[in-house]
Amino acid sequence: MFSDIQFDQRHIWHPYTSMIQPLPCYPVSSAQGASLFLQNGSELVDGMSSWWAAIHGYNHPILNQAVSQQLVKMAHVMFGGITHQPAIELCRRLIEITEPELETVFLADSGSVAVEVAMKMALQYWQSKGEQRHQFLALRHGYHGDTFGAMSVCDPHNSMHSLYQGFLPQNLFADRLDIPFSGEWQEGAMDSFSRLMEQHQQDIAAVILEPIVQGAGGMRFYHPEYLKRIRQLCDQYQILMITDEIATGFGRTGKLFACQHAGISPDIQCVGKALTGGYMTLSAVMTTRNVAEVISQGEAGCFMHGPTFMANPLACAVACASLDLLAENHWQSQVSQIADVLEQGLRPLEDSPYVQQVRVLGAIGVVEVTKPIDMASLQKFFVAQGVWIRPFGKLIYLMPPYIIQPEQLSLLIEAIRHAVSRPDILFG
Ligand SMILES: *Cc1c(COP(=O)(O)O)cnc(C)c1O
Repeated sequence: MFSDIQFDQRHIWHPYTSMIQPLPCYPVSSAQGASLFLQNGSELVDGMSSWWAAIHGYNHPILNQAVSQQLVKMAHVMFGGITHQPAIELCRRLIEITEPELETVFLADSGSVAVEVAMKMALQYWQSKGEQRHQFLALRHGYHGDTFGAMSVCDPHNSMHSLYQGFLPQNLFADRLDIPFSGEWQEGAMDSFSRLMEQHQQDIAAVILEPIVQGAGGMRFYHPEYLKRIRQLCDQYQILMITDEIATGFGRTGKLFACQHAGISPDIQCVGKALTGGYMTLSAVMTTRNVAEVISQGEAGCFMHGPTFMANPLACAVACASLDLLAENHWQSQVSQIADVLEQGLRPLEDSPYVQQVRVLGAIGVVEVTKPIDMASLQKFFVAQGVWIRPFGKLIYLMPPYIIQPEQLSLLIEAIRHAVSRPDILFG
């Protein structure tokens, strides 16, 4: 008889994990607040919010209640020709809390699907205007998901475009945005970007980017002035601007949406991840009235996408409750307190010979080390320290639930400080 863990290793795919030599995997049996509980009884403080999602922590009574109250009414019903209160409530709230220009909402299943939807919207927009525009302008180091359209606008190296060569659409990539979030703005920083815009203005359907924080493509924070200039260029050349706020949305960077650092509004915006407080998969694509109307005036007469589980009532109900909590819980002070503690705790690590750079913005703390990390060895070390931190590449990073307690946050920081003094563990 195989044990559960042996069965898992033999038969179940995990994200970015080999089926021949799988990395170790830790069985979690429950989660509460900012803690995960392993099957063996040990408690891990969560530094990841389950990939940006669980902003209010786990097993939250109010979120639980939202799901169970909806569950006894209906778990799901198709959205074609039918509507329901949870969807209406959620879209009302989303429109209220985002920029006034964003007036329509398309509910989708996941972040990657939201990106597909946004890209398809941009293509249909131009089709409807009678123009042939087939390219997207994206940023190096960007990450937008793992489906094909999304992959085609991810950093060409990080997402290994070469693996899918011949099938993947060819898009345009602007040089990396080098000026950091609080660096000094330099004229000329936009030269390469504006050259690409000018050269390809007839072909570009939309610019797509993660505002301010580039997440899975390298955890880099860039200067808000870039966003302002890109918005101006999009206006100048009449090109659509898509912002992917899937990781940054709902307060993580210190603003409710990262675009607000630059005071701009996109034509199309994707949100996901923290939308349901980490309870269920759900994303939303928001557009201006103009985008929605132009698409609807086109040959097809409508937007050509309709997921089976569109606007799933359980997911919408918990998303509404999560947005209510966000408002009530004073996320701004939660996030700024986390930012202060991360800054104080992690910044001194820049003195370590194994640390390249420390970056903190909002409730995100990043320690970039000098060489690629030995994931298995460092993960094991972290678990032994009682923390859940999942490094990748050269990056150790924290994005804890907003409700994390100060002593829990200290434990996470202590574990990283400890790890950074142990090259044998860091690099294996
Ligand atoms: C995670 C992420 C996605 C993809 O979302 P999934 O729900 O994993 O499909 C897209 N864009 C950004 C910026 C993300 O961080």
